[in-house]
This record gives sequence, structure tokens and C-alpha cells, in this order.
Amino acid sequence: MSFTLAIVGRPNVGKSTLFNRLVGRRLALVDDQPGVTRDLREGEARLGDLRFTVIDTAGLEDATDDSLQGRMRRLTERAVEMADICLFVIDARVGVTPVDEIFAEILRKKSAHVILAANKAEGRAAEAGLFEAYSLGLGEPLAISAEHGEGMSDLLSVLMPLA
Ligand code: GDP
Ligand code: MG
Repeated sequence: MSFTLAIVGRPNVGKSTLFNRLVGRRLALVDDQPGVTRDLREGEARLGDLRFTVIDTAGLEDATDDSLQGRMRRLTERAVEMADICLFVIDARVGVTPVDEIFAEILRKKSAHVILAANKAEGRAAEAGLFEAYSLGLGEPLAISAEHGEGMSDLLSVLMPLA
């Protein structure tokens, strides 16, 4: 059985880096509804023995502050509807921001399965942010580094029972 994982979170936390790591060159075609192509990327992911569909939420990067929240909410809700599991990514070097808290609230309401990941967790600079992540009320954060490939076996362990 396969499943769909949506990677959500505010801009610049490393969602696309993680998407690219999971998908590699196997980037699939995206939904061709107008507006969807630009904002949601879909690919076939491989992690250990698991094969699954992964969705990257983009399209927030060029939003101004006042348009960000609405777009973020719509896009995140759409990704959540398409997905069986949400991987909510924060930046462990920055810690929990007010925007992260808004995301956490959307996800607590909307998604059955949320995995919390604190990315950029390589090195000591991430320790405080990783600890802060517990305050989001989404369980124990996974410490990962999308750029360096760290924490991928932990991610696999969390996904396996849900697959
Ligand atoms: P997105 O906006 O959430 O899709 O974030 P991107 O994937 O575009 O990454 C934003 C920035 O964070 C880029 O400069 C990445 O190189 C950097 N980045 C992503 N993952 C990591 C990581 O694990 N560690 C560090 N130090 N930087 C990372
Ligand atoms: Mg991105």
C-alpha cells in the first residue's frame, strides 16, 4: 500500500531541499489544475524500502507579509486534503516562530497524522530550537538535516507503521 506525504511549513525551513532528497530525479508531473502546478509539486519518493508520493508546498516564497497568511492557509489546507500524512517542518536553528504556531494550529485541526520535523539540525546551533519544538503540541520532533541527509532513518522509522 502506498501513501501521500505532504511537506508543509513556512518558507525557508528546507521543504524543497527535503523534497529533492526524497524524490531525487524522479520528479513526476504535477496536477494540471490552474494554479496548482506552481504551488504544489508532486514526486515519487524513495526512503529505504518505502515508495510513496510526496508533495512539496511552494508558492509562498514570493508573498508579501499581508498576503502570506491567507495563501499559506489555503495552500496548506489543500496539501493536507491531498495527503495521508503531513510532515510539518520547522527550522531548528531559528526555533519556533509565530508563523510556525499558525501552521501548527491548522495542522492540529486538519490532519490526522502529523509528523513534526526540526530541520537544519546538524550541529550544536540546533539544540535550543529542537527543544522549543515540543511546545507546538505535535509530539516529539524528529531532528533532521535535509541538506546533509541526517535523520532520514528516523523519518523512515516513523513512516513505516503508517504506510
Ligand atoms: P523551503 O522554502 O522551505 O522550500 O526551503 P528550501 O529547501 O528552499 O531551503 C531554504 C534554505 O535552507 C536553503 O538555503 C537551503 O540550502 C537551506 N537548508 C535546507 N536544508 C538545510 C539543512 O538541513 N541544514 C542547513 N544548514 N541548511 C539547510
Ligand atoms: Mg520551497
